[in-house]
Amino acid sequence: MKKVFDVADVRELATTKKEVGTKTCPICGKKFKGYGNDCAPLYFPGQCCDKCNIDVIVPFRLFLDDKIYHRNSKH
Ligand SMILES: [Zn+2]
Repeated sequence: MKKVFDVADVRELATTKKEVGTKTCPICGKKFKGYGNDCAPLYFPGQCCDKCNIDVIVPFRLFLDDKIYHRNSKH
């Protein structure tokens, strides 16, 4: 039977998995820990840091909601 994994491969996978916790924010380019925040609809798929979520993503979503609301209200 052919060997698929060896111990080194498994160890490498385990190490890689540990580093998933650190992500790079696509907006400010800084590294952050944790799950992050969904960047949609500005960056998709992607996760941004808490600061950019509050400073960029939330105002952008409100801006889009406002556009959609005003467009629909014209009917
Ligand atoms: Zn950021």
